[in-house]
Amino acid sequence: SHRFSHLETAPPDAILGLSEAFGADSNPNKLNLSVGVYKDETGKTPILEVVKAAEKKILEEEATKGYLPIEGSPEYAEDVRKLVFGDAVAQDRTVVVQTPGGTGGLRVAADFMRTQLPQVKVWMPNPTWANHPAIFMSSGVPTETYRYLADDRTSLDLDGMLQTLRESASAGDVILLHGCCHNPTGIDPSGDDWKQIAQVVEEKKLLPLIDFAYQGFGDGIEQDAVGLRTILQHTDEALVCSSFSKNFGLYSERVGAICLVAADAENATAARSQLKRTVRTNYSNPPRHGASIVATILGDPQLTAQWKEELESMRQRITRLREQFVQTMKSTGSGHDFGFLLRQRGMFSYSGLTPMQVDELKSKYGIYIVGSGRINVAGMSESKMQYFCDSVASVLS
Ligand code: PLP
Repeated sequence: SHRFSHLETAPPDAILGLSEAFGADSNPNKLNLSVGVYKDETGKTPILEVVKAAEKKILEEEATKGYLPIEGSPEYAEDVRKLVFGDAVAQDRTVVVQTPGGTGGLRVAADFMRTQLPQVKVWMPNPTWANHPAIFMSSGVPTETYRYLADDRTSLDLDGMLQTLRESASAGDVILLHGCCHNPTGIDPSGDDWKQIAQVVEEKKLLPLIDFAYQGFGDGIEQDAVGLRTILQHTDEALVCSSFSKNFGLYSERVGAICLVAADAENATAARSQLKRTVRTNYSNPPRHGASIVATILGDPQLTAQWKEELESMRQRITRLREQFVQTMKSTGSGHDFGFLLRQRGMFSYSGLTPMQVDELKSKYGIYIVGSGRINVAGMSESKMQYFCDSVASVLS
């Protein structure tokens, strides 16, 4: 008999499956609000002009395709450190390791925990990005969830969150936090909420693992780091996983990092060596091209300014779409107030649409949303807004 004959087919990725169905749909008004990538008015995910400019420079100047060090490019690491921490932490207490995307960083973090912190559990928000529990499970790190979404499904249950952590987390456990633009809800803690979360981190001696995949998509590059930096005032150890997939539009280039904050330089050096060991056995060393793009841009004040402008225009487009959606929904007279979308941040929002309504939007109107009702706001389009809102109003009635 054949060795693979007993294998069962794994279920397809729920979100990517929807995109396939979208591709095959012949409805000229169709809209894909499922997969989490930024889109422009025409539904395309563009390459930033500043990225093209950096690539031109790299094409002319790049002198080798030799391996990068295990921990990646040192210039890139320094750029990431400044973006994430500013001057919140002394440089010699930080370790930055370049990883293939934010996902690569999370996987390295998970393997690091499994081998170096074998007692810990990871507390994840409920809900969270579907890949979070999957990554920890693959690495063999146990997980639990803390309350995050309130019963109204439009706001944060801060009291519930803090209570779960106070009552159930053990000293030394890891708390997974979304640095900004919570995926899938779009609901972020306020500045004051972050202070209360930081208090619990300190009280319970929790190790924060901050997933920072959307820096610059919420309120701005520096503003989006406020939560993370508030937490760092209450603990001297942390892990941060950064991604430049979204804010540089470098999805397929796999650019990310794991940053570790240690209590002192000596601890940082030891931690660096363990992170490197994890990388070595996973993928040996990271890809060069995407990190060169980021380092080229951040190493040149003019390109940096151009990047900030392009990022800001993506951010503003999302904000504009949120506003236009809320207004247009109002004008349909459906009686449903979507004003809560204006308080949410980043690419995603929980719309409150039920799985049945989501199904009807797909079959009747060619509008693709994931079953939880999570909407990729960036997938909306100004020219199709009326059609979209009329369709939503019709499935709500
Ligand atoms: N974390 C969250 C919450 C995300 O939504 C994503 C991307 O969708 C990632 C991490 C990882 O992104 P990537 O591995 O593409 O950089």
